[in-house]
Amino acid sequence: MLDEADSRPVRWTYLVALLGVMLATGVLWAVVGATDAFRRVVFPTIIVVNGALAVGVITRRMPLRVVGTWLVGAMAALLFGRLISWEAELVTRPESLDGSVIVILGWFGILFALTFLAFGTRRGLQVSLAGFVLLHLGLAASSSRGMLAETEVSELLAFIPVGHAILITIVWVLTRNTEQLAAARATTELLALQVSTDALTGVANRRRLDDELGRLVAQARRYDQPFSVVLLDLDCFKDINDTYGHEVGDRVLVETVDRLQAAIREADLLGRWGGEEFLLLAPHTDHQAACALAERCRSAIASSPMPQAGVTVTASLGVASLRPDDDVRALLRRADLAMYTAKSDGRDRVVGIPDFIGPDEAETSDLANGTPGQAWPKHP
Ligand code: GH3
Ligand code: MG
Ligand code: MG
Repeated sequence: MLDEADSRPVRWTYLVALLGVMLATGVLWAVVGATDAFRRVVFPTIIVVNGALAVGVITRRMPLRVVGTWLVGAMAALLFGRLISWEAELVTRPESLDGSVIVILGWFGILFALTFLAFGTRRGLQVSLAGFVLLHLGLAASSSRGMLAETEVSELLAFIPVGHAILITIVWVLTRNTEQLAAARATTELLALQVSTDALTGVANRRRLDDELGRLVAQARRYDQPFSVVLLDLDCFKDINDTYGHEVGDRVLVETVDRLQAAIREADLLGRWGGEEFLLLAPHTDHQAACALAERCRSAIASSPMPQAGVTVTASLGVASLRPDDDVRALLRRADLAMYTAKSDGRDRVVGIPDFIGPDEAETSDLANGTPGQAWPKHP
């Protein structure tokens, strides 16, 4: 069965079929009239049922599976009903019986194709083959001693099942290929997601962070926009594992990510850099805003005990912002340096390295001597 992602072409096909048949019925009714009992019942029924189904398709109120089932069911009832009404002489047979029968057999081809659209490859094949057998057994019986015996159509009857069989085979192959392609695409998407996602926490993994860092830094440089990163390391996390066990440690990592996700903005990308270290990429964010963001993150983690362990966990955060002549490595090195400064200054704090220092200043600054950064004031 085609899934919802592929539903647009199916919707359009159903809509064209429903409105087309409705329009043709209306025109026929107006021009030729409901000339027999069959038409007097069928014409208004088609218009009402097709109209209701078309509304269901347009408003998306009705699942496509339901529309497809109705469409196939109604069409089969109509086509078989028409042949039976002539065969059993429930109504007067038309004068041009040959032509009328050929038209009905042509519509059976469309019905077989619609069956695959409605039910998918396997069930579509079963239903259309059942219809095929029923139709051609009926036609064979009719051509030997029923209404078809009186017509020229009986001479052509050998070609019609062949034509229908070829059509069913073509549609079956196409539907099967489409379903296989859709399945392969879904698998590829899942694999792509797994390749770029951290399995434990569900945030971006290091590979994705690396890719995004390269892209965002290049973008920030090209458009001369601010860009900052925040490196976050949980404090004394080994103690959590040692005291409460690795599983509790895992759950604390997940809770940490939940708290961080709630603290950051939509444009920021949070990822797991490794172990109990996380990296936050903040596009369009200057140093001061990034330090404020990091402080929000710190406070979100430390604000209340982690329910999984019953203790408060803290984190040390280092903030670095892109400089005009920077590259990714230098930016990360500064974030790392800032984070370790936060550790050595006593943990549970944010330390930022200002985004710009002139070349002369850089050589003589504290940063070059390994004591970088400024502590960012904590929220009260
Ligand atoms: P510091 O404040 O200096 O960062 O101390 P720390 O204990 O956090 O740092 P350390 O590097 O000594 O230990 C990190 C710990 O994080 C040890 C490791 O077992 C734990 N860890 C890393 N990845 C995972 C994980 O996926 N699950 C769990 N439960 N623990 C992890
Ligand atoms: Mg740590
Ligand atoms: Mg660490």
